[in-house]
Amino acid sequence: MKIFHLSAECYPVAKVGGLGDVVGALPKYLNQAGLDTSVVMPFYDRKFTRENLFDVIFEASTKLGDKRYEFQVLKEQTDKLGFPLYLIKAPGLLDRENIYSYPDETEQFVFFQLAFLDWLNWSQQTADVIHCHDHHSGLVPFLLYHSALYKRISNIPTILTIHNGQYHGAFSWDKFNYLPEIDPDSTGLLDWRGGINPLAAAVKCAWKYTTVSPTYLHELTIQSNGLEYLFYTEGQKGRGIINGIDTQVWNPETDPMLVKNYHTKTADKGKKENKDALCEKFGLSPDKPLVVFIGRLVDEKGADLIPAIIRKSLDKHKGALSFMILGSGESGLELELKQLQEQFAGECSVYIGYNEELAHLVYAAGDFLLMPSRVEPCGLNQLYSLRYGTVPIVHSTGGLRDTVIDFGNEEGYGITFNNISAEEACVSIDRAVTLYANTPHLKLLRKRMMELDFSWDRSAKEYIQLYESL
Ligand code: ADP
Repeated sequence: MKIFHLSAECYPVAKVGGLGDVVGALPKYLNQAGLDTSVVMPFYDRKFTRENLFDVIFEASTKLGDKRYEFQVLKEQTDKLGFPLYLIKAPGLLDRENIYSYPDETEQFVFFQLAFLDWLNWSQQTADVIHCHDHHSGLVPFLLYHSALYKRISNIPTILTIHNGQYHGAFSWDKFNYLPEIDPDSTGLLDWRGGINPLAAAVKCAWKYTTVSPTYLHELTIQSNGLEYLFYTEGQKGRGIINGIDTQVWNPETDPMLVKNYHTKTADKGKKENKDALCEKFGLSPDKPLVVFIGRLVDEKGADLIPAIIRKSLDKHKGALSFMILGSGESGLELELKQLQEQFAGECSVYIGYNEELAHLVYAAGDFLLMPSRVEPCGLNQLYSLRYGTVPIVHSTGGLRDTVIDFGNEEGYGITFNNISAEEACVSIDRAVTLYANTPHLKLLRKRMMELDFSWDRSAKEYIQLYESL
């Protein structure tokens, strides 16, 4: 079965968050199960593309509105990622360093999709499934089935996976001329609330859509930035499949980014060595419970609550608790966290920026991982923390609800709270401090969580069943 995954991110080529992790791992596991899976993404001028060799396998040009852009399809020479990797490079449009946030992002991602379809069509290829991820490839299902240009490949089934339903990639009808000729009767499929909405178009046109956790599938009908009614009416096409983790990358036993590797039986000693190293580097005491946060500093992640959580908790547990924050995002929040670091020197340390290597160490070194997310489609951080023996403290929403069971329950291992507020998060931190003091209990929970199986082997099977059903 031949599958193309279309995505803006793919670890280790280019990653901002969970989308990159998923697209860097799922295709590898699908191939190990015998499928023929490739990833197609825009070209970025980054470390991976500079340090690896690529063949130019296709060259053409495509119109975007009044402009015509040359493009190349590059293929990584060795398939070292566990799947063929194709990059679409278009000088002046798809050849930049960052993944997002350019003013012409619409032009970039529309062109990426047109170039992909042209390549597939003109190079006389076909596929059994085209698997689109988020709005960046959301126009593909629509174009495939409603433009005469792609008639030859219009029988290919498409799937959309929604990693984040808050972002739709919407743009104005003024840019309708970016699209090739389409069946005039079908233009309504592009529309949502008076604009062209790629995510909505994909939900309408893809044969199936998936969300990255079962709870999130339901939550999209309640909160999806204006698409609630669409998710409600199209619900029969949807399915929630929890993300897995790449256990080759995220394995405390072999992770080269740790100071000390460890497994279930050596976790206490191994985690302590990582904690000692992290605390020394960031001026924290290794003898107190360490609560860590890793992620984007945005409201969606509840990052706006973090300063209040830190202040309240450090005031209450004077000298008996530390925090380490790794993240970047809203500038006001970054500044506030930096100020907290000064105010609570030795008890709160903050690293502003994106640092993959440090993230691995923080997962291993932390005693508790805080996730006060308002919205969490799946969440990978809690899955990594479970694997690294770090107790997750989570707001029970989306994928966090599906993956973290409070230790108050018989088979539980994490700490959960039900209402999103700094006060409730602080109560959970109080419970964490108490748990930390009860070493045998903490050890028991650590063992329990490290033995859980959240690997892709399990979730990849669900995707294969879905592909087969098409
Ligand atoms: P998102 O909504 O951001 O995609 P996920 O939990 O699905 O959230 O995935 C987040 C991924 O990004 C994890 O691999 C996490 O370790 C990583 N990450 C987030 N922020 C940072 C950072 N500042 N430095 C390193 N890794 C980060």
